[in-house]
Amino acid sequence: MSAELLSRLAAILGPSGLLADEADMVSYAIDWRRLFPGRPLCVARPASTAEVSEVVKACRAAGAAIVPQGGNTGLAGGAVPDASGAQVVLSLNRMNKVRAIDPVGLTISADAGCILKVAQDAAAEAGRLLPISLAAEGSATVGGVVSTNAGGVNVVRYGMARALVLGLEVVLADGTVVDMARQLRKDNAGYDLKQLFIGTEGTLGIVTGAVLRLVPRPRHTVTALLSVPSPQAALDLLALAQDELGDTLSAFELMSGYSFDLLKRHLNLTPPIASGDWFVLLEAGASLSGLREAAEAALAAALENGTALDGVIAETGAQATQLWALREHITDGEAREGKSMKHDVSVPIVDVPAFLEAADIAIAEGAPGAKVNAFGHLGDGNIHYNVVLAPGQDGAAINTLVHDVVARFAGSISAEHGIGQYRVDELLIRRAPAEIALARTLKRALDPDDFLNPGKVLPAGG
Ligand code: FAD
Repeated sequence: MSAELLSRLAAILGPSGLLADEADMVSYAIDWRRLFPGRPLCVARPASTAEVSEVVKACRAAGAAIVPQGGNTGLAGGAVPDASGAQVVLSLNRMNKVRAIDPVGLTISADAGCILKVAQDAAAEAGRLLPISLAAEGSATVGGVVSTNAGGVNVVRYGMARALVLGLEVVLADGTVVDMARQLRKDNAGYDLKQLFIGTEGTLGIVTGAVLRLVPRPRHTVTALLSVPSPQAALDLLALAQDELGDTLSAFELMSGYSFDLLKRHLNLTPPIASGDWFVLLEAGASLSGLREAAEAALAAALENGTALDGVIAETGAQATQLWALREHITDGEAREGKSMKHDVSVPIVDVPAFLEAADIAIAEGAPGAKVNAFGHLGDGNIHYNVVLAPGQDGAAINTLVHDVVARFAGSISAEHGIGQYRVDELLIRRAPAEIALARTLKRALDPDDFLNPGKVLPAGG
């Protein structure tokens, strides 16, 4: 049966569209964190929506499940096949074009496999901003960003990917093409069906194209790094920044002193300000003048009332890049420190200080010797609460410790990275049975044979 399917796929895709040699499939078979090695039957690389539809029909007829894959930068193992050797990876990497830009209507249309950075650059060339920014943007794709409802550092101002999706083109589990790639700002004509495919990690359909919202490109940007005495002070600083900078505030990142210690010890990176227990990196952007003056006044007020201990505002674009490099290298520093358990959690923004305190106590008592590397998007209540393990420590037990604290604050065990195959079991425990039942109803309605990305988000077989 698999030989028959391979020859059918070769006929649909042509020689450059199908990979079936193990050596050619290595990078498609394992996730970015190298936690979930799989073994695909083959990698199908369609070049058009029509080919995606044909591949889906052929795989369905042969009973071979499909695993959609974009840039394979996902952090939950959602884009890789299982080890059966029977699943087909459907890579969108040959569908990689920007389709159109409308600088007045503020939209960009792109193929699902278009690299996020390529779409950002195209928007910039048109004098506009595609306001999704994440460290994986050089490899992540528009389809992957949509399918994971990605966040990143600009959520505080522009929302998650969902807030930017105006239209989608998708292929369903039976091969039907549904063209909802409309550019409309307002469209209440019936159910908003595109929402079904945003953040559902390729389990309900395959995204083949997207229309995303652009925003005017701010002419002035201010980037500042501050040290603060505590997470509560960082929260007070957020309130101050909201008052003084209003909705120009586009990033508000919290980083612990331990994060900076890792940067110094492993990467020789040091902040240009006096060290503190906690740091905040904030950015604001506006086209009207006066932004820098407002930021300087806010910084002076924070230093005066003790909310901030020290601070610097970047003088040049290069300095701003250096400040961002500190934030972006924290996970590199952590990887060099040793094995860690990563927790991408969210709680209500005002509860972040209390959450950090409670989680630190839980780790100190339940996993003595472990080190907490906490950093992330304070402006969204999203903390990457990573725990570097002491020798011999049980990672699963640490997950439970942290997620129990998240539950006490009615938070989420996955703020932006999704569930993939990494957190399936925990989702079943942490979400109410009624929510899981509703999710299963949706899955059964759109993919009754569990043919699209089985075992991701929900257990295989529903
Ligand atoms: P993939 O990894 O290929 O796929 C991810 C999931 O989407 C899989 O379930 C896959 O099956 C599905 N999928 C992919 N394409 C399609 C499609 N066309 N149709 C249907 N399903 C599809 N994420 C954040 O949210 N915020 C961050 O700040 C962030 N920072 C990161 C930093 C680094 C260094 C790395 C490696 C990752 C980071 N991520 C972050 C995670 C990741 O980059 C995002 O989830 C991204 O959106 C994944 O895009 P991708 O194209 O690589 O998708």
